[in-house]
Amino acid sequence: MERTERAVGAVVGSAVGDALGAPFEFGPAGAFTGRFPKPGPGEMCGGGGWDPGEATDDTQMALHLAESLLERGGLDLPDVFARFQRWAAAEPKDIGLQTEQVLNNGMPWDLAAAFHFESTRRAAGNGSLMRATTSAVYFARQGRDASMDAARSIAALTHGDPAAWAGTAIYHELLRVALDGGDPLDALPEALAHVPAEHRERYAVVLAPGWHPDQATEFNGAVWPCLGSAVWALRVTSGFEDALRAAVDLGGDTDTVGAVTGGLAGAVHGFGAIPPQWTQPLHVPLPGAGDRVLRLPELADLARRLDAGA
Ligand SMILES: [Mg+2]
Repeated sequence: MERTERAVGAVVGSAVGDALGAPFEFGPAGAFTGRFPKPGPGEMCGGGGWDPGEATDDTQMALHLAESLLERGGLDLPDVFARFQRWAAAEPKDIGLQTEQVLNNGMPWDLAAAFHFESTRRAAGNGSLMRATTSAVYFARQGRDASMDAARSIAALTHGDPAAWAGTAIYHELLRVALDGGDPLDALPEALAHVPAEHRERYAVVLAPGWHPDQATEFNGAVWPCLGSAVWALRVTSGFEDALRAAVDLGGDTDTVGAVTGGLAGAVHGFGAIPPQWTQPLHVPLPGAGDRVLRLPELADLARRLDAGA
């Protein structure tokens, strides 16, 4: 499979997972397969304020990040932060609580997240992980260390807890391996070895082969079980469609678990494995950037440019 097929699979796969999971957010486990016992039409159903195929804040932030990387020709952290702020000010339908607080607390880009973390000590949400597929594709060709460093820096814009940086860095690395045609599950030990020791054990638990999302000690809106659930969904299935059905069926923060799973599974199985009935209604409104709405052709083009861009 060509690398481009994997890059487009990752970016489109993540958006698809986001849109597929959105109507089931905060619902119970089993809600998705309860409604759709077998794969088929209608699964991209909308609901909970979302139109069928509409992607949420996860993908919107990922696309703002992507456009910054491409237009600035690299990582311009103040520019990414400013784009996130413009997006937040344009009243997106959904925005993570922590992300909203950081983007609106009036502090400069390099202090806002740290300021929030100092006052709350709670900043290990999955909100930096959920938007990382585009940056993972962009930085993959620069190698493991550069890609993991970029992941940490981008995560730190909105998340002051280094645990969130570590999870996002692991995700970047798994996606880098997948884009190279490797198996991200095989890359887990090496990825964990590049996580600071104080964060390694907690990730080692949720990324272990025998771990199941039922064993999570936090809601999957936290970064550890979110990443663990995505890797679990990839591990226990053999195709994109099954991986996403398993991920969304976990309940909870279904759009984000779907987005993270979709990025990984899309890179592993390729764009051709994503069901057309999921990509056909897919659309990503982009508040804060001229109110454009991106669909499959624009997303695929963006993925190709990210893959070629760095
Ligand atoms: Mg969302």
